[in-house]
Order: sequence, then C-alpha cells, then structure tokens
Amino acid sequence: MKKELFIPDRIFDDVYGITPEYLLSENIKFVLSDIDNTLVKYGDRKPGEKLLSWFAELRAAGIKTALISNNNKKRVRIFNKDLKFPAYHRSGKPSRRVVFKLMDEMGAKKSNTCIIGDQIFTDVLCAKRAGIRAFFVTSIESPKDLFGKLKKKLEKKFIEEYHKKYGE
Ligand SMILES: [Mg+2]
Repeated sequence: MKKELFIPDRIFDDVYGITPEYLLSENIKFVLSDIDNTLVKYGDRKPGEKLLSWFAELRAAGIKTALISNNNKKRVRIFNKDLKFPAYHRSGKPSRRVVFKLMDEMGAKKSNTCIIGDQIFTDVLCAKRAGIRAFFVTSIESPKDLFGKLKKKLEKKFIEEYHKKYGE
C-alpha cells in the first residue's frame, strides 16, 4: 500500500483543537468520529461536559457528527444514548464499507467529510482509502498493552512523514 494512505491530513493534540471555524475553512460539513481514545478514554461510558460543548459548537456551525467505532454495540449504544448521532459499532475500519454507508445516509460528499481518530492503521487509513480527509488526534491515554504499544511505535514513522511533508 502507498505510504500516503497512512499520513494524516492534519494532526491535533486533541479534538478541541478541531474547531468549527477550522472545519468550515476546510469545507468540512460532516465529521465521522472514532470514540475510544479520540473523544473519551476507553473507560468513560459517557461524554463529559467539555465534549458535549464541542458537539454543540459543531452543531451550531451546521456541521453534522456521526460515530464510527470498531468497538462493540453496547459501548456505542451507551455512549450515544443522549447524543443520538448516526452511529455504527464494529465498523471494521480500515474497511470503507461503513464510511460509505454513513455518508450515503447523511448525504455527505467526499469533499466535505472527514474522519477524526487516534489510530493510523484504522482511522487514518480508512479515511485515506475512502478519499476523505483524515484528522489524527493524539490518543487520550497511551496504550499499556504490548500490542497497543507496538502499534504506537509503528505509527511514529508516519507521523514523522507528516511533519516532513507539511514542515510542522
Ligand atoms: Mg480509537
């Protein structure tokens, strides 16, 4: 696979750096977001106040949000209970199938849609394969397990490529 598929379009410290003003300046009207370690920690079942305000700001700007998670049904259902966003569990990222399904349901176009996520090999790869913008955020918690640590180590190469490419 081409290296470009693993390089985010933009890297942020956290989702709060992704402002409605920024999204609109990039012509983004549809945000498909990962949940775990992107919006909240694995252990947080519900969004907190700060996150709810961020969702409200996006909504006020006319930006639609959806949840695209590889986690299970229960996790997504409880998290989304009050939000009532279009949401998919076991999305199979980096597969594009659910992305295209969501975009179709929401009336989104490739040119005005992004994925926000904390994993290069699922979220970023999924977005780039789908031909939509990939906004990468630093994981809220660093992985403690061996596989998670290994993935973060492998991601480093592409984050360095990003900095080389954009000179940030
Ligand atoms: Mg995640």
